[in-house]
Amino acid sequence: MPRDMSDADTILRDIFGFDSFRPGQAEIVDAVSRGENVLAIMPTGGGKSLCFQLPALVRPGVTVVISPLIALMRDQVRGLREAGVAAGALTSANTEEENDAVWDMLHSGDLKLLYLAPERLASGGTQRMLQQAGVSLIAVDEAHCVSQWGHDFRPDYLRIGELRRALDVPLAAFTATADAETQDEIVTRLFDGQSPRSFLRGFDRPNIHLMFAPKNKPRQQIISFAAARKGQSGIIYCGTRAKTETLAQALVAEGHSACAYHGGMEAEQRRVVEARFATEDGLIVVATVAFGMGVDKPDIRWVAHADLPKSIEAYYQEIGRAGRDGAPAETLTLYGGDDIRLRRSQIDEGLAPPERRHADHGRLNALLGLAEALECRRKTLLGYFGEAEVSCGNCDLCDKPAEVFDATEAVRKALSA
Ligand code: ADP
Ligand code: MG
Ligand code: ZN
Repeated sequence: MPRDMSDADTILRDIFGFDSFRPGQAEIVDAVSRGENVLAIMPTGGGKSLCFQLPALVRPGVTVVISPLIALMRDQVRGLREAGVAAGALTSANTEEENDAVWDMLHSGDLKLLYLAPERLASGGTQRMLQQAGVSLIAVDEAHCVSQWGHDFRPDYLRIGELRRALDVPLAAFTATADAETQDEIVTRLFDGQSPRSFLRGFDRPNIHLMFAPKNKPRQQIISFAAARKGQSGIIYCGTRAKTETLAQALVAEGHSACAYHGGMEAEQRRVVEARFATEDGLIVVATVAFGMGVDKPDIRWVAHADLPKSIEAYYQEIGRAGRDGAPAETLTLYGGDDIRLRRSQIDEGLAPPERRHADHGRLNALLGLAEALECRRKTLLGYFGEAEVSCGNCDLCDKPAEVFDATEAVRKALSA
């Protein structure tokens, strides 16, 4: 029998060391602990891990966690063990002894969380072992990896549905990728098409100001934006490696502390930039999308896109690096006809299958819709992610409705003619 939520509060405090749930967590923890099938969509950093780790302690037996990255699994297992929770991982990176220790805990019924690399599901031995192990819950982290038309597709994730049928236990799926197509694929492949209880939570980042502008004098537009925020940490995303270098130089010439970052740089050089950005105040990193994974500086005050991102998801993720501390942060995204043509041809010339290309065009179109929105960008952005009730007052269109802006602009031109 699941215990009630006051137990959850106690476990939250005593085991995980947190005073309170983050928005959305309590409801998800409750539903997963009760054994409902759940799909939870929360942004990166929202606290998804807790939403299966805590229920795993409430439920009887062992919870199997499928996760795509060995490093992520190891981190979580280490954290859980430090908190005194019996957790283990079975991955290809394990030593023989590590594997044996995990098997022993599983057989003795002591293990509460078993992290499994998806490749493991391919072996019949794993399936049989799990059938005897008293599994009471399957948790799927990064569930969008099941989407064949997404960018993180992992074929072995397709075996999870089969595992769920074999074990006949509830399944809870977690992801930060929320577009409707991906959600549909998750429901089809993980839940056999039977709608789980869905939680879509916390995509709004109300402290981030949203602004778009057509490219006019793009270099000057970016330099002015940076000049108005001198001394604050920021990221400028560029479409090419070459541009990160030239723009960084231009900013240095303007007296900023700035450096370039892209995938063509030596790993060591990149680490230096990452370390400087984490520790220095007021550094501007001019980067390609290679800069991002693992950037968790809380006080990034602004993010600018010198070129249009490739999709609405990429846009959301990239601007989302600003203002993690909750204090005001600003963004500017430039777009022009060239960007749109470039992004389209990148999609068409890529090696992806036609269905995936179709989905990618859709994600780009959604971003163009946002760039050309006539009213509140936040409503448009969050509407795409399925959030209906949105209040804003913190985007360029809310600051200055389009009609009013055009009228003043027209008047100003007329007066100066
Ligand atoms: P996600 O998987 O959604 O990206 P994580 O599960 O990695 O997010 O959690 C992000 C961070 O938030 C972690 O450092 C985690 O310890 C912290 N966190 C999660 N839940 C809470 C909470 N209720 N209170 C405080 N910090 C939390
Ligand atoms: Mg996570
Ligand atoms: Zn708005």
